[in-house]
Amino acid sequence: MRAVVVRPPRAGVELLEVPAPTLVPGGVRVSVLECGVCGTDHDIVDGKYGRAPVGTPFLILGHENLGVVTEVDAAAPGFAPGDLVVATVRRGCGEDRFCRTNRSDFCETGRFTERGIGGAHGYMAEEYVEVPEYLVPVPPELRPWAVLLEPMSVVEKAIVQGQLVLDRKEPTPGEPKPVAPSALVAGTGAIGMLAALVLRVRGYRVTAIDRHDETTPAARILAAIGADHVNTAGGLATVGDRRFDLVVEATGSVDLDFSLVNLLGPNGVLVLTGIPDAGTPAHDVAGGALWRDVVLGNQAIVGSVNANRTYFEAGLRDLAVVRQRWPDAIPGLISARRPLESFADVLGGRAGGTIKTVLTIRPGGAGDATR
Ligand SMILES: [Zn+2]
Repeated sequence: MRAVVVRPPRAGVELLEVPAPTLVPGGVRVSVLECGVCGTDHDIVDGKYGRAPVGTPFLILGHENLGVVTEVDAAAPGFAPGDLVVATVRRGCGEDRFCRTNRSDFCETGRFTERGIGGAHGYMAEEYVEVPEYLVPVPPELRPWAVLLEPMSVVEKAIVQGQLVLDRKEPTPGEPKPVAPSALVAGTGAIGMLAALVLRVRGYRVTAIDRHDETTPAARILAAIGADHVNTAGGLATVGDRRFDLVVEATGSVDLDFSLVNLLGPNGVLVLTGIPDAGTPAHDVAGGALWRDVVLGNQAIVGSVNANRTYFEAGLRDLAVVRQRWPDAIPGLISARRPLESFADVLGGRAGGTIKTVLTIRPGGAGDATR
């Protein structure tokens, strides 16, 4: 079968003919329909990141996935050929209490693997084999957008982490809040846009910032879902004196991470999801004022990475709500679908102003409502 492979730590990417995976006992064979491309994929192709499986000279890339079941072992109940599925990414170490209870997103040993990222082959290939535990069934009506489910799961987890911190000041958990909480989303790539959508579903007043004007697809989607958009190309002061209960960061910019603390309201929480370059030169920070404000404001800064299965399931529920409430908004989230043959173009350069580019692995796959 054809697969998009990298050879970490070397930079570069190639399309390679590799053996199709063998169906394991209790396993499910999946024909890959689509793979989303994200910043992590670009980082791996650039040689900054990524690890091949032990004993293998290459890594099959790709972690944002959508596929259709083609073969089911007799010992894998609940799946049938034709079912749409999205596979989760992280595989736990099996050693700590989190990995032993399907919450490897909180792994404490660091000895996990991640399909398409570190130590396990990904989904940018014609087929993969997986066990049911890691496969999330997708309803057919979500076929056109389900390739967004993996980034959606990351967003779902990040927002829950922020919400848990906000809820710490509520004497009665679950009691309706007197006013709709306010959220700032920093960055309007796929993670930022999906965060804006989920926060709107949750009843937040949402402001999203990026360095573009009102003519981008992101700005138009934000307007359609009732979120404010602010172009901060001229600096964060453009946001004005508004302060926010929840700030979700989705850029990986070290400078911005520090500045966003200043946009937190009293008792507010900043959730960081972007992964900065560890080689970023040291910055001067006015730490005294920064930490003073965090203490005096009961504020919190939380990092959030990856997502376990429950967040994929939450993402499916929210995708269904979004599809009902803003049917015209979601199609714009996928900026382009490109054939597998254009992998080198798609993975070779980062396209500015786009939200999500998707590689079509199997054209016209079963249930493809977009064609
Ligand atoms: Zn673990």
